[in-house]
Amino acid sequence: MKSQTVHSPKGDTCPFAFPNGAYTKFMKIRRNDQVRVVAGKDKGKTGKVLRVFPKENRVIVEGINFIKRHTRKTQQAQQGGIVQKEATINTSNLKVICPRCNKPTRIGITILSDGKKSRYCKKCEEIL
Ligand SMILES: [Zn+2]
Repeated sequence: MKSQTVHSPKGDTCPFAFPNGAYTKFMKIRRNDQVRVVAGKDKGKTGKVLRVFPKENRVIVEGINFIKRHTRKTQQAQQGGIVQKEATINTSNLKVICPRCNKPTRIGITILSDGKKSRYCKKCEEIL
């Protein structure tokens, strides 16, 4: 898997590295982001990110990528039948909608003066 290059002003020590060498993956898409689907069967739709799975690089978006699941009658589900449920979608199929310019945008990553990494809109340079 290709890893993201982090340009840290402090040299090669990434502030996000744990002592055991693991990195907290910096997700360009976060919970509660508005995103637009740019590929796949839901192309063109927009929705809100409900959950993120950084390891898998996937997210669940409200109303996007529904899958049908056939369920049997159980104690919990009296009805049974077909249940529609959002499935995860790869983040590469999504673009974040910038709250400022209100357009699907490419997200850049920048290091703020306090050393924290932050996302910014590549169109209007708003910090997200
Ligand atoms: Zn913007």
